[in-house]
Amino acid sequence: MRSGPSSISPEGMSLERLRPRVEECTLCPLGRSRKHAVFGDGDPQAEVMFIGEGPGEAEDNSGVPFVGPAGKKLDEVFASVGISRSDVFITNVVKCRPPNNRVPAKAEMEACFPYLEAQIALVNPSLIVTLGNVPTQWLLEGVPGITKARGRFYDWRGGIQVFPMFHPSYLLRNPSRAKGSPKYLAWQDVQQIRRWIDGRCGGALEEAASSSGHRNGASAG
Ligand code: SF4
Ligand code: URA
Repeated sequence: MRSGPSSISPEGMSLERLRPRVEECTLCPLGRSRKHAVFGDGDPQAEVMFIGEGPGEAEDNSGVPFVGPAGKKLDEVFASVGISRSDVFITNVVKCRPPNNRVPAKAEMEACFPYLEAQIALVNPSLIVTLGNVPTQWLLEGVPGITKARGRFYDWRGGIQVFPMFHPSYLLRNPSRAKGSPKYLAWQDVQQIRRWIDGRCGGALEEAASSSGHRNGASAG
């Protein structure tokens, strides 16, 4: 579990005040090559926060997380269990695109972590879903790789649970839906998240889900 440098005082802080600090940040070298920093998006009081790795090209161009091909896949995964983007908060470990979509360097993740920490403190989710190995290893140092770590709830700080699942880009690279395939496992995992939400919110999202017509027999894509 990380206890990173929290340089951001919670006093008087809000997501609205934090956003421009991220958008103007040059604390690490990624700040020089990005077009737009990608702060995050969704319900500022979400019960569930999704954390990806870092912006890709489409996100760098738009300043919005998960709007490129991986984002479309994530939308499909959400739709398969009636989760809407506006129900959750979505962000990344690093807020600026690593050149050529390389994995963010440890120093970059360290430099950026106070922002993520502040977002977690401000949104105050009960569940964090880490998408892929990078955010999973970042929050849950020392757990096995994503293939083993996914699909389980881990106790994190402050009573928050962390649930790792595959990154949507990995699902794009592995199109099979056969039993045991990444897509199949992601479908199991997102259904677990759905059940967690239902247990937590007393089925508040149930109506939205059934009226969207995606619940029965759909797959995570
Ligand atoms: Fe700042 Fe994070 Fe962007 Fe680096 S990746 S410049 S720390 S906002
Ligand atoms: N991949 C990520 O990890 N995050 C994004 O925002 C987009 C693609």
